[in-house]
Amino acid sequence: MMRLHRCLPGLLILLLWIGCSPAPQPVTRNTTQMQMGTLVSIVTWELTVQPDQWREQEARIVGDAFREMARVESIMSSHKNATPVQHVNAGPRGTLQPIPSELAGLLRTGLEITRLSNGAFDMGLQPLTSLWGFSRDDPASHLPDIAQLNTLVEQHHAGGLTLTGDTEGEYRIRLDHAGTGLDLGAIAKGYAIDQAAQVLDRAGVRNYIITAGGDMRMAGAKGNRSWRVGIQHPREPAMVMAVVEPHATLAMATSGDYERFFIQDGIRYHHILDPKTGWPARSGIIAVSVQAPNNALADALSTTLFVLGAEAGLALLEKFPGCEAYLVLEDGTHKKTAGFVGQRLDPPQKKVQ
Ligand code: ADP
Ligand code: MG
Repeated sequence: MMRLHRCLPGLLILLLWIGCSPAPQPVTRNTTQMQMGTLVSIVTWELTVQPDQWREQEARIVGDAFREMARVESIMSSHKNATPVQHVNAGPRGTLQPIPSELAGLLRTGLEITRLSNGAFDMGLQPLTSLWGFSRDDPASHLPDIAQLNTLVEQHHAGGLTLTGDTEGEYRIRLDHAGTGLDLGAIAKGYAIDQAAQVLDRAGVRNYIITAGGDMRMAGAKGNRSWRVGIQHPREPAMVMAVVEPHATLAMATSGDYERFFIQDGIRYHHILDPKTGWPARSGIIAVSVQAPNNALADALSTTLFVLGAEAGLALLEKFPGCEAYLVLEDGTHKKTAGFVGQRLDPPQKKVQ
């Protein structure tokens, strides 16, 4: 009894303190910037008793993540001025040119995919992608000069990319011919997301979605609900054809013939090229989403599968542990590998913004 009496004041103070402390509040923030030629957004969610303090802290960390993506773009872009990639493209052919180790690292990852895909993934297509002009500020709306296209395709087949590097970190690349130039458009955005995600992870942001065009990374959840994102229907821009609700961190990229394209004489021409022909790939796939252990891989593989088509694409995927795919074919068929996180919506549903 005595003991309880002595404890009571402390117990009361504790109860009062709990009673007075504010209840934790959920805070959702969405920051969007134009980067890498597309809208990039970072959405975060946090449950906190100090919402204002969290907002301030979050703004600083998310700012750092955007700066990190801008830094990646300033190395990997073939459109921006004075990037190492642009220097290489402007440099001589047939000569080894020095490049930063970070660029060499991403090229090495990409070249492995080139090797395994028998050249369907090709980071040397810049003269051709630039001729087609889908990435220009005023994107192409008609066919390029066919004679010029044929010359570039011939030259492109005459040579490729050679990467060398020694233990002292001296990395060099050689472009073998005028028909070859660096375009990392199918892998750099994914890599930039990986880097931004690292910034958020290191700073202790636990629940977020980063989206950049068709590439996205999801981490954590919204309290006791998973993040829920839709995959756009390739022929109905206002509709969602599948929904993804991950229970763990997820990297995903989608490639399709509906993002950058024009239609001439009833034929759709889009921005993913078949390196063998120099023309937009026609493999039967019109949209493909790939989930992978990181976004660089998801990005590169979604483009690669688009070029290869369902059969060869799914066979390639077997060589990449932890990678899954969702394909939509020209005839409207949907195919999904067993481990793909997400469900088809049949019929498709209206997008909710
Ligand atoms: P997006 O850039 O719209 O997200 P992708 O990730 O599929 O789409 O990448 C397409 C971009 O990659 C093109 O705009 C071009 O820069 C480049 N590219 C086109 N064809 C290929 C290819 N076969 N292999 C590698 N890169 C490609
Ligand atoms: Mg890609």
